[in-house]
Amino acid sequence: MLFEDLKGKKALITGASGGLGLRFADLLSTYGVAVTLAARRSEALEAASSRIRARGGSAYVIQMDVTDSNSVAAALSGGTSFDILINNAGISGSGRALDLDEAEWDRVLDTNLKGGFVVAQAVARGMKAAGHGGSIVNIASILGHRVAGNLSAYATSKAGVVQLTKALSLEWAREGIRVNVLCPGYIETDINREFFLSEAGLQLIKRIPQRRLGKPEELDGALLLLASAAGSYITGSSIEVDGGHLVSSL
Ligand code: NAD
Repeated sequence: MLFEDLKGKKALITGASGGLGLRFADLLSTYGVAVTLAARRSEALEAASSRIRARGGSAYVIQMDVTDSNSVAAALSGGTSFDILINNAGISGSGRALDLDEAEWDRVLDTNLKGGFVVAQAVARGMKAAGHGGSIVNIASILGHRVAGNLSAYATSKAGVVQLTKALSLEWAREGIRVNVLCPGYIETDINREFFLSEAGLQLIKRIPQRRLGKPEELDGALLLLASAAGSYITGSSIEVDGGHLVSSL
């Protein structure tokens, strides 16, 4: 049966306090994965993990700032070796390139690109030390493949995540660690719902070939494929889930 191997596995999901990260944690737990939810603030994580435990799942919480390698090392010092990493923590950041200040550039690149590397490296070291492989799923964006106005830092960071995925998959294949990247298009979550009700948001939706936003649950299939043995021969790959947005007409 597809995805049956997930039962009993241990997964770390970063940025799991809301949005897509919380969806990924919920999803994996329903397949019997023991999930560890990580984010900078633990309060939101506690509520989510209690909900998962009340359903009979296993859920743990760790506080972690992915931009700080000491914080990542401290968070992972408990010695758990994870089988699955969903490298999801990320921030957006918009502004015209001519006006963008250095601090904003650093904030976006440190979180989305450096943070992704630091967590992947720490988790992969744990997998290697424990003598088992695993699956790392980086969460980038269609902006890792194409560009849009006023998003230079974000698009650059996500393109970096796509390239980082390929580089890590090449080095870590011999350790039995697969590394892939999931690139969502525009998915409706709490942080963008309001924007997509605005005129600019409605215009953007018209440029998506399917003429609608995605729903978080429409990422489930791709996430399960990459995380589980169903994707055992997939590494270094990028899967786009975007209603056709990347193939929209130039
Ligand atoms: P969100 O803001 O709801 O979630 C982001 C999560 O990352 C939050 O839990 C936040 O606390 C966490 N985070 C931010 N900085 C952190 C740090 N320094 N250390 C630890 N955690 C940190 O946004 P979302 O829409 O759920 O996005 C999740 C991921 O998906 C992001 O990487 C985002 O770029 C990507 N993505 C989202 C969409 C979309 O349409 N929602 C589209 C493409 C890609």
